[in-house]
Amino acid sequence: MKNIIDLRSDTVTRPGKEMLEYMFKAEVGDDVFGDDPTVIFLEEKMAAMFGKEAALFCPSGTMTNQIAMKAHTQPGDEIICDTTSHVYNYEGGGIAFNSGCSVRLVNGDRGRMKPGHISENINPDNVHNPRTRLVVAENTSNKGGGSIYDINDLIEIGEICKKNDLLMHLDGARLFNALVETGEKPEDFGKIFDSVSVCFSKGLGAPIGSILTGSKNFIYKARRIRKVLGGGMRQVGYLAAAAIYAIENNVQKLKDDHRRAKELGSFLESRRYVEIVLPVQTNIIIFSLSEKYKQDEFLSLLAKKGLLAVGFGPQKIRLVTHLDFTDEMLSRSIDIFKGMA
Ligand SMILES: *Cc1c(COP(=O)(O)O)cnc(C)c1O
Repeated sequence: MKNIIDLRSDTVTRPGKEMLEYMFKAEVGDDVFGDDPTVIFLEEKMAAMFGKEAALFCPSGTMTNQIAMKAHTQPGDEIICDTTSHVYNYEGGGIAFNSGCSVRLVNGDRGRMKPGHISENINPDNVHNPRTRLVVAENTSNKGGGSIYDINDLIEIGEICKKNDLLMHLDGARLFNALVETGEKPEDFGKIFDSVSVCFSKGLGAPIGSILTGSKNFIYKARRIRKVLGGGMRQVGYLAAAAIYAIENNVQKLKDDHRRAKELGSFLESRRYVEIVLPVQTNIIIFSLSEKYKQDEFLSLLAKKGLLAVGFGPQKIRLVTHLDFTDEMLSRSIDIFKGMA
């Protein structure tokens, strides 16, 4: 895979030497017994960062989202989220499988719901309708092309939720990508949301891991659900160490990913085979191809030239910049796209 430029996702990064050394030195215990000191350190650190009482380290962002939705709802409840959302599209139908909830999809702007979308979609309290119980927002929005929420919209959504006895979960898989752009703080989101999930395995560069934060009572429930799902892990401090390293060293580096994504995005706008590039706000570039190319042909031609990308809906291509994507690779990528007639 040498020399290949892999922009399929920001999950493709490999842990570097320093991260591996940090992992190697981790002190571990048995986390199902609750005595892995490195996991405890990470959970306390992340809880404090978000202004929450507690946190839970999990193998994936899918698991943190699924646990949160399960802990916040009862079967038959309804969850409001955007049509593009990861919890609806990319978690294997987990909302039905794990929580037995129905889903109310709303059409936000590049994945971002407006307060009106919530107030219009809360069911009246009667025996006919599912009980609206939870709102799930995603920041940044993956399918929205890495778009960032206006925090004022989230604050207003939070007020609507409070008034109507709804809970709120944030799928913050790429929340830090938003924070480095806006200057907002994790606790700003901890205040709005009942629970927040963040991935270490995306732009932050850890091999595995996501954190779920919330109240003590919520995390107590979440820990039980994690065990039921088979997510109780033993000497997992080695992986928690990678997450600690990532959060302490790699947050500001996200800005470089954004700069490179913006440069690549604006170059793509000049290509004749590109119809539209979604505005690039963070590290995700989504563009649609003109009819000249079939999506599959385009992707395999790119791969032949040494650049990997993924299809993201009809005629849409997604590129994601990350820690292992350098300035040298950026100029090579631009050359490759230049070479696509
Ligand atoms: C990647 C991602 C997740 C979690 O994915 P895992 O691969 O299960 O860690 C959740 N939400 C969004 C928006 C994501 O992009």
